[in-house]
Formats: sequence, C-alpha cells, structure tokens
Amino acid sequence: MAKIVLDGVDKVYSGGVKAVDNLNLEIHDSEFMVLVGPSGCGKSTALRMIAGLEEITGGDLYIGDDVVNDRPPKDRDIAMVFQNYALYPHMTVEQNLAFGLKLRKIPKQEIAKRVQDAASMLGLESYLKRRPAALSGGQRQRVAMGRAIVREPQAFLMDEPLSNLDAKLRVQMRASLNQLHERLSVTTVYVTHDQTEAMTLGDRVAVLRDGRLQQVDTPKNLFDHP
Ligand code: ADP
Ligand code: ADP
Repeated sequence: MAKIVLDGVDKVYSGGVKAVDNLNLEIHDSEFMVLVGPSGCGKSTALRMIAGLEEITGGDLYIGDDVVNDRPPKDRDIAMVFQNYALYPHMTVEQNLAFGLKLRKIPKQEIAKRVQDAASMLGLESYLKRRPAALSGGQRQRVAMGRAIVREPQAFLMDEPLSNLDAKLRVQMRASLNQLHERLSVTTVYVTHDQTEAMTLGDRVAVLRDGRLQQVDTPKNLFDHP
C-alpha cells in the first residue's frame, strides 16, 4: 500500500485544453478516494496521469515516497479497472485472472492461490471455466476487478467501473467494493460522475470542476456543509 500525492499537477493537452489545473491532493495510505464532478472536469485525465497513461505537464506526482513523473505504467505497481472491462474474450475467467501473473513469472502455485482467493472474494468460483461472452455485465466487471486484485498492487485506479451496469447491479457492486476495500485496504482512486457512488464509496471525496479541486472532505462533511 502506498500514498499517492499530486503536488501542483497540471495537464495541458496538445490542442491547448487545460484539463487539470494545479491539482494538489494527498491520497493517504489505504484510503479510498473518489474523484467526482461533471463530464469534462478532468477526472479521467487526473486518473490517467496517476496511471502513467498520460504525461503530466507540470507539478510532481508521488507514489509512496518516489516522484514517478517519468516512470512508465508498468513500473508504477498499480492496477487499473476500466468501464469497459477489457477482458480477453478467448480466455476463460480463470485464464483472464492468471494471465498478468504468468507474464510476471509468478510461480504456478502462488498464481493458483491468488486466483482462488480473488474468485472467492468476488463470488466467481462457479464461473472460472466460462468465457467472458457467457457472463453478465456484473460478472464481467467482477473479473476485471479480480484481475486487479490478484496483482496485489500498491494501489487500485478505477475509472467509472460501474457505469455500464444497471441500477440494481450498481447497488450490489457498491456493497462488494466496500467489502473488498475493508478486507484489502488497498489505496484506491475511483473516478465517477455519480454523487451517490461517491458518497457511499469514498473515505474522502474530491470534487473537481473545470480541472480544479473545489473541495475535498469526508462524505459526511460534504453532506453537512455542501
Ligand atoms: P472527465 O473524466 O471529468 O469527463 P476528462 O479528463 O476526460 O474529463 O477531460 C477533461 C478535459 O480535457 C475536457 O475538456 C476534454 O475534452 C479534454 N480532453 C480529454 N482528453 C483529451 C485529449 N486526449 N486531447 C485533448 N483534450 C482532451
Ligand atoms: P471519459 O469522460 O470517460 O474520459 P470521453 O468520451 O470523454 O470519456 O473520452 C474518451 C477518450 O477520448 C479518452 O481517451 C479521452 O482522453 C479522449 N478524449 C476526450 N476528449 C477529447 C478531446 N477533446 N480530444 C481528443 N481526445 C479526447
């Protein structure tokens, strides 16, 4: 687990759009931080900079005690979960969960154990031999989360992971995410435009507007003093 610090971080896209403007935010070790705000406020850009998928154009980004501004995604020890799952269609659930670990040359027995633990935490044990096409949207998103969990990274980054699910599933998945976080305590940065999601999931919520940080506080304080 590691803290993540954005110290005066800017993002100016090549066309000149200032997507993130002097963002100062410290995400504590083991904290669940939600970035919330309307479409276009810079949430995804901020998350993608933490992931290393987008270069920062100003300021410093820390993971743990290290400045990681120029470090490629694979050397950041974080796992990202996307809205569209990004599963391998030709592989079973089990193979999807194990694939990243095989690439990293983790020993077979250790892979089997991690896959089993993740499947059990996410209620995927009965689906291990299925391919993604034979799963519901909620099950696919669980597999995507499982793939992040098995890596045992320093941090999870999630970009609108529930927005392709229907309302009932979103409620279930929010509960699952809360349980997972309680159990694993991995530092998490979670992007959503959904206020309810922000308030039910976040230890703290950072409200962005036009690329700037408007407020950052616990859900309770934001609710009491909006
Ligand atoms: P959000 O995730 O809050 O919807 P984004 O981070 O996607 O916001 O976008 C923030 C701003 O940056 C928007 O004005 C968007 O149009 C712009 N933007 C996002 N990605 C790019 C890009 N690759 N090139 C140019 N502008 C971009
Ligand atoms: P989100 O709000 O989840 O970021 P978008 O539809 O805004 O989704 O963006 C999807 C992709 O398009 C992202 O990779 C983003 O960086 C890119 N993008 C968004 N806005 C622009 C833009 N104005 N110019 C170029 N690319 C953009």
